Amino acid sequence: MIEISVVVPVFNEEENLVPLFTAIEKVMQTLSVSWELILIDDGSTDNSWKNIVELSKLHTEVRGISFSRNFGHNNAMHAGMTHSKGKSVITMDADLQHPPELIKELFQKWQDGYKIVQTKRIDSEDFSFIKRLFSKLFNKIFSLLSGIPMESGISDFRLLDRVVVAEILKMNDHELFFRGIIQWIGFDNVQIEFKAHNRLHGETKWSFRKLVRYSSNALVSFSIIPLKLGIWVGLFTSFLAFIEILYIFVRYFQGETIPGWASTLTIISFMFGILFILLGIIGSYLGRIYETLKNRPKYIIGSQTESDS
Ligand code: UDP
Ligand code: MG
Repeated sequence: MIEISVVVPVFNEEENLVPLFTAIEKVMQTLSVSWELILIDDGSTDNSWKNIVELSKLHTEVRGISFSRNFGHNNAMHAGMTHSKGKSVITMDADLQHPPELIKELFQKWQDGYKIVQTKRIDSEDFSFIKRLFSKLFNKIFSLLSGIPMESGISDFRLLDRVVVAEILKMNDHELFFRGIIQWIGFDNVQIEFKAHNRLHGETKWSFRKLVRYSSNALVSFSIIPLKLGIWVGLFTSFLAFIEILYIFVRYFQGETIPGWASTLTIISFMFGILFILLGIIGSYLGRIYETLKNRPKYIIGSQTESDS
């Protein structure tokens, strides 16, 4: 029986894979547990898949799954969990920003009985100012709208007990937002802190576009409050309009008509702006319902290493 499955999404990480394996193997040897490493190639365009296959030939612990294209790292983690066999599952990044030595502590806490061992990054050398600002803003908005507290620094480096993984795999969300799901799901959980290293090789795989898509997807899947925004904006603008009409009547009976097509135009374009934003919000939820209804798979597997079939 495998004790620990380590699940790692891989997107163009060719140079990081061997150091990653070596570091994990070292920790596992000190723990002397049976383990496996599942590497999910999320549509890499470099030699990542070739390296994964090679690693799997050299080491029986390594299994590889290759997506037919890039499906995003949440979906890659999902695939890894689906194929994992361990009594506990650890997810971590391939770039060694999540220190493998911490696995020891994760394992310890799990043995103490915690079903979820979450890690929190206390200081990251790699983080740009913009990214920090963006993530702060996102966490604030997310917590406010979903009612689920989202601290900054919560990372995708965590250990989940098999019972938690089983619950997650039952969920039918179109794209699982793991950081939210983990907060939502309950169970006995504990948090440990770590200091993130710099990326070993390569660049961050998060473009601004990807980040925006990821965040709006997370919000839409955890809150329906934006849908109700229209009601409040509508009430407010109706109130303004009411006052304006009153004012116009009063002036009319005082014998004055009010010139000012410019102000009228401003108000109209302002209203249209709000209207379009609200339509967009409704559209994004509608899109999500559509995606869920289509019931397409979260990902498509192109190939797998031999030991897995
Ligand atoms: N990743 C992925 N698919 C993507 C983007 C990223 O599988 O579309 C993987 C990536 O290879 C890494 C992890 O997700 O193992 C986190 O990505 P990255 O280190 O670039 O994120 P950052 O640490 O900069 O937030
Ligand atoms: Mg990283």
